[in-house]
Amino acid sequence: MSKLAFCGLGQMGVPMATRLVESGHDVTVWNRTPSKAEPLTARGAGHADFPADAAAGAEAVVTMLADPSALEEVVFGERGLAASMSSGSTLIEMSTVGPDAVRQMASRLPDGVEVLDAPVRGSIPQATEGTLVILVGGPEEAYRRWEPVLRVLGEPVHAGPLGAGAAMKLVANMTLGVSITAVGEALALAKVHDLDPATVLDMLSQTPLGRMVDQVRPKLEGGEFPLHFRLALATKDLRLVSDAAEAAGLDARLSRAARDWMAAAESAGWGDGDYSSVTAFILEQVASSARHRES
Ligand code: NAP
Repeated sequence: MSKLAFCGLGQMGVPMATRLVESGHDVTVWNRTPSKAEPLTARGAGHADFPADAAAGAEAVVTMLADPSALEEVVFGERGLAASMSSGSTLIEMSTVGPDAVRQMASRLPDGVEVLDAPVRGSIPQATEGTLVILVGGPEEAYRRWEPVLRVLGEPVHAGPLGAGAAMKLVANMTLGVSITAVGEALALAKVHDLDPATVLDMLSQTPLGRMVDQVRPKLEGGEFPLHFRLALATKDLRLVSDAAEAAGLDARLSRAARDWMAAAESAGWGDGDYSSVTAFILEQVASSARHRES
């Protein structure tokens, strides 16, 4: 069993850290809002007041944070991880931050600290059940060393060198953003043609967007979007996708369009809801522009 630190106890971090504690690892947790550590300490995890204290003596440190600026803060901020990680330890970065943030972080850590980027596909149910798909970048040897710990959380896939896991995750979430906003636009197009919503959803279920439609249908029909993945985080992901594409000279038009829908929903106050509620936001926009045209 390994001595681990886990930083970032949000929607995903709590169930992931819980699995590590319950599988017998010696885990010390840290979170910016300390009260979120309570379910973990109740199960026997240690608790630290600062990231550096959590990482002191740990063989590996897992980070599961919101975005690149949170990662910067936790690793290089006051009493951050970099202050206490030493040669031979590994930082396993599991947030969605993109390959640039991962590579920059790795280049600034003390000599001899290994980094694996290991962002995940799947959401709270998969984090709870240990069935996440884990997209791992980094040296083969470090991957082999930490594969058994990653297997507590899900199915790791070695995607390539440092940054490959983070890049693969952007590729995955590009499709998520484009398909959820495409569902919203398809439903909006149906609405302006006064088509029956249930018949439209039956038809859409048979299209290439069918899987997404089937997932979002009960939420749209029930008018409730239980929170699994914050819309603001999906906006962040699509910004990372668009920025990465732009930096490489790639004209990623669909990614930009999806990002713009998400960003508009976030600006309108929908950021703390589930990302799938962007479909309802798009429908609402269509209804309000139709009202404008009538008046
Ligand atoms: P979340 O519930 O919003 O949790 C975010 C975590 O980051 C919290 O622990 C939060 O601390 C911390 N944080 C934010 N800003 C910080 C800062 N400036 N300094 C220190 N800590 C900070 O997010 P989540 O859903 O767990 O997602 C975590 C990561 O996994 C994100 O990168 C997300 O894109 C990715 N992801 C999420 C899902 C999903 O379905 N939810 C699926 C796959 C991947 P506080 O508790 O103090 O706010």
